[in-house]
Amino acid sequence: MAIVRVALPVAVDRLFDYWLPAGLDVRSGSVLRARLGRRRVLGVAVDLVQDSEIAPERLTPIDEVATELLPLPADLCALSRFVSEYYQQPIGQCFAQMLPPLMKRRRILAEPEWRDAPAPAPGPPLNADQRAALAGVLAESTRFAPSLLQGVTGSGKTEVYFSAAERVIAEGRQVLLLVPEINLTPQLQLRIATALQGARVAILHSALSTSERLEHWLAAARGDAQLVVGTRLAVFAPLPRLGLIVVDEEHDASFKQQDGVRYHARDVAIYRARLRAVPVVLGSATPALETYAAARRGRYRWLKLPHRANAQASMPAVRLVPNRSPDTREGLGSTLRDAIAERIARGEQTLLFINRRGFAPSLLCAACGWKAQCPRCAARLVLHRSAGALRCHHCAHAERVPESCPDCGNQDLVPQGFGTQRLERALSELHPAARVLRIDRDSTQHKGAFATMRTAIAAGEVDILVGTQMLAKGHDFPRLTLVGVLGADNALYSADFRATERLFGLLEQVAGRAGRAALPGEVMVQTDFPDHPVYAALVDHDYDRFAQSLLSERELLGLPPYAHLALLSAEGPSRAAVDAFLGHAVEEGRSLVAARALRCEVYPPVAATIARRAGLERGQVLVQSTARAALHDFLPPWRAELERSSPRRVRWSLDVDPLGFA
Ligand code: ADP
Ligand code: ZN
Ligand code: ZN
Repeated sequence: MAIVRVALPVAVDRLFDYWLPAGLDVRSGSVLRARLGRRRVLGVAVDLVQDSEIAPERLTPIDEVATELLPLPADLCALSRFVSEYYQQPIGQCFAQMLPPLMKRRRILAEPEWRDAPAPAPGPPLNADQRAALAGVLAESTRFAPSLLQGVTGSGKTEVYFSAAERVIAEGRQVLLLVPEINLTPQLQLRIATALQGARVAILHSALSTSERLEHWLAAARGDAQLVVGTRLAVFAPLPRLGLIVVDEEHDASFKQQDGVRYHARDVAIYRARLRAVPVVLGSATPALETYAAARRGRYRWLKLPHRANAQASMPAVRLVPNRSPDTREGLGSTLRDAIAERIARGEQTLLFINRRGFAPSLLCAACGWKAQCPRCAARLVLHRSAGALRCHHCAHAERVPESCPDCGNQDLVPQGFGTQRLERALSELHPAARVLRIDRDSTQHKGAFATMRTAIAAGEVDILVGTQMLAKGHDFPRLTLVGVLGADNALYSADFRATERLFGLLEQVAGRAGRAALPGEVMVQTDFPDHPVYAALVDHDYDRFAQSLLSERELLGLPPYAHLALLSAEGPSRAAVDAFLGHAVEEGRSLVAARALRCEVYPPVAATIARRAGLERGQVLVQSTARAALHDFLPPWRAELERSSPRRVRWSLDVDPLGFA
């Protein structure tokens, strides 16, 4: 009897055996439907075998082959196994992750409409640095050849990707371009359509409709799409003629999936390029330290674009201005206020960046010190004044703003700190005639809202923009000449060792919004710590100096990229249950380390940064090793033990190469 070993979308890390009815054409990679208990699920055939450990009479048959999809090619099957083993994620979920969502009812799908490019508008001829970078990226076009393209904002990295893509497409091969979630804008799509005239482009991201995603997936799988552009999930697109992978803004945290299957799309992209023997280029103005270190050690070809491409545009001047001074009003110091007034007078635009939405991050009783707390999380409630609500940013909890202090009855409740709404109001009061636009997750909830706003900004209908990191990237507004940054110091207080690395990346990107065209740009960062190395390097736009000092620090402290980490996170209804589970995990881990003489350290359990979320207590255990191999010897048996011993009420997950500790 022919038996099929199938990967099913379940949380246990094993494959399931079914027998194969005669007449079904199934091979490795085939997508099929099978029964699992009372459910009918979609699975992927991994292996065809003759024998099963399960008695033949207890095996159930495959129901059918899902003919609306194409079989997964061999490299995606191998990639699933890699993701499962490297990231310690259940094999079936890794396979499931590769499939597009299927429609409830089968429909005849339309072919994607390959839109013709608008007006043929060849891009600018590449400058010498760009030509050198292009040659570097494609130096070995049929081998695994990773490179880092480190170029300041506006240096023309995107033009290099397009030129490389053009060549690869001309050879009849496919290109995969991964971008951060927030960068996949209509602006980018238009740019692609213009730069790669007539190229067949498929888009893949999670907000597409089910039928669109399926159409584009199939276009990629058939080899029809010449360029696939997408967010992290696109790293799993089937590409029979893959010739090049580009990861733009490779340092961006949105490439890391933080729930479900935990993987890093940049690292998976590198592995995939190796599997397929194709070049891969990672681009950034501020590469992740992991990437930076790999380039420095010569593992990646290191390509640089040190200047802005547009001859008229220079890097914006960065000034550090006092955060708190007697003349500060609503968080805005006089230097920044004056600079804004000047821009308004000149008809230029200002962007005020603050990475907090809402009116104020907390509400405080001036008499007794009471603070509005979420009843379900160990976190403050954020004041959303226009809605008259206190909202938790970690769960769905919301409540009306109380009229008086619930503890002492005092009516003087004070909003503390600043969010986008508060700045928006302050600016409208300071400049009643100015047009102020707030752009954050709250103001862009409705579909199409962000697009409308972008059009208004580009048309010069806005004087001051107040926004969160939604505005940090990818947008090009020629009349934007001033960027003000508030609240940046928060990162300096963070317990996360990556906080300053991230701050630099974010600030450099926000700064990159200013002065992209003929008008020179200026950036003002309000800070209490003007001597901090992160700001000193920012003033000089000197990422290399900053990266090198961070690297020495990490080496000294034994942190990534000099060590490798895995994080066990657990949550449950009681602190005792979570602590008991994590305590046991540490004990088992340490005896495993001792028994096998592994170079791993298992740290004691700690509460998560948000120690309680949505009513669940949360804790973590960190495992660290200076040797990747030792960590990967340690994890599988440890995980098996955790699976065996974990109590029902505690939910846990493993995160290999964690990016955050929230
Ligand atoms: P990056 O991706 O590095 O931020 P872009 O590729 O978006 O940079 O280029 C920034 C700006 O410079 C764009 O307006 C682009 O059209 C322009 N540009 C890029 N390369 C050149 C070049 N060789 N000559 C003139 N302008 C260029
Ligand atoms: Zn009170
Ligand atoms: Zn909450």
